[in-house]
Amino acid sequence: TGKKLTKEETIRLRNEFIGKSCPLFYKSNPLKIVEAKGQYMYDEEGQEYLDCANNVCHVGHCHPKVVAAGVEQMEILNTNSRYLNDNILHLSESLLKKFPPSLNRIYFTNSGSEANDLAMRLAKTYTGNQDIICLNAAYHGITEATMKVSPYKQLYSKPDHVHVAPNPDTYRGKFTRDEFESDKELSKLYALEIEKILNRLKECNRKIACFIHESLQSCAGQIIMPKGYLESVYKQVREHGGVCIADEVQVGFGRVGKYWWGFEMNDVVPDIVTLGKPMGNGHPISAVVTTREIADQFFEKADSFFSTFAGNPVSCRIALAVLQTIEEENLRENAIEVGHYFVNEVKKLKLKHSIIGDIRGAGLFAGIELSKDRLTKKPATEEAAFIVDSLRNRNIIMTIDGLDENVLKFKPPMCITKSNVDFLMSRLDSVLLECRFSKNTVKRQLSTECDENVPDKKQKA
Ligand code: PMP
Repeated sequence: TGKKLTKEETIRLRNEFIGKSCPLFYKSNPLKIVEAKGQYMYDEEGQEYLDCANNVCHVGHCHPKVVAAGVEQMEILNTNSRYLNDNILHLSESLLKKFPPSLNRIYFTNSGSEANDLAMRLAKTYTGNQDIICLNAAYHGITEATMKVSPYKQLYSKPDHVHVAPNPDTYRGKFTRDEFESDKELSKLYALEIEKILNRLKECNRKIACFIHESLQSCAGQIIMPKGYLESVYKQVREHGGVCIADEVQVGFGRVGKYWWGFEMNDVVPDIVTLGKPMGNGHPISAVVTTREIADQFFEKADSFFSTFAGNPVSCRIALAVLQTIEEENLRENAIEVGHYFVNEVKKLKLKHSIIGDIRGAGLFAGIELSKDRLTKKPATEEAAFIVDSLRNRNIIMTIDGLDENVLKFKPPMCITKSNVDFLMSRLDSVLLECRFSKNTVKRQLSTECDENVPDKKQKA
């Protein structure tokens, strides 16, 4: 390890060496995190922060079992994946057991972007079609192909073969719970939007390769789809010759509690599922799970697929330890219990603070949508930035998301506890009060420093 740098030196050297398009959280005063354990992170001065934002260190930062698995394997062997090795098979077997039987083939990759990139290639190769439908406000990655299906990005420019459907945001989307009471009506209306795209394609003699979606939209602002929506979209897409890709990069591995995968909440079985972020608890490993038919067609029609680091013995050993830890420590049960508690506690705050427009969640995936006014639902963007900043000053890390940057995201490591939620609620309560009673302060701060503190869209994904 090199010499320890002061925070000022770290900032100076970062500005010198790292490309400017790689932004940090809290831009005007970034955090320097030097250590982490469980659901806590520590800065260079030893300040402890409760991490409510990290859906990568899924089973807890530096989990001893995961660390030990990595160290142990690194002492024995790490190489590329072109030799026979058992780790990749032990991991595949354990992982595939958690999927419906039709999803029984796996490809390993190194990031969520790569997994989605490959997923779309599989879909195009299998169907022979080129057109893709994605949802508004979606984010699927940084490669050329995945950026094209990521309308969340500020500079998004839609290519001709991509079709963006309204995302089923029933709070502030095209059709809302104010106008339509039942999920049935809402899902029908949103599914109709996809049908319109499919019919337009047909009229132009074009055919769909795939529909790519998150099972619960995260970057879009923690959106939970109305029941029945995915079911009818899947049916239509398949009738038109396409396949369905569920991006579980943020929401997979038991985050929703009741299920291993978000798509299970929606009673569908995708043709392709992509996994990432939590899979290696911070170590880069991702995967694409698909059917035998799709994998076989890819073998027949496409060039061979090989990625140097993907599926290496160390990554696989680590991912296996993550899976085991989720089970051994009953983290899905914890997600149900603590997630439920979180939503109920925020509901109590909602009675006190009119800025809370909506609270929605499934397990440890939750969002608090902030509105300036409950009737107009005008997004409370500046207030959200102020709140996230003030929480940081009270030792809590939370992030904002959604196209209007007005949704507080709760997606902590899965080991978070109810007493952590109590700590968060007491701080959030006082920050919300402060926000209400010091509108002028908010404005003043925003015009000077807080604007800077709005996490940049590009860094949040
Ligand atoms: N899909 C989703 C839903 C994501 O949230 C992200 C990352 N935020 C990605 C794909 C891309 O993953 P990665 O950053 O590992 O390339």
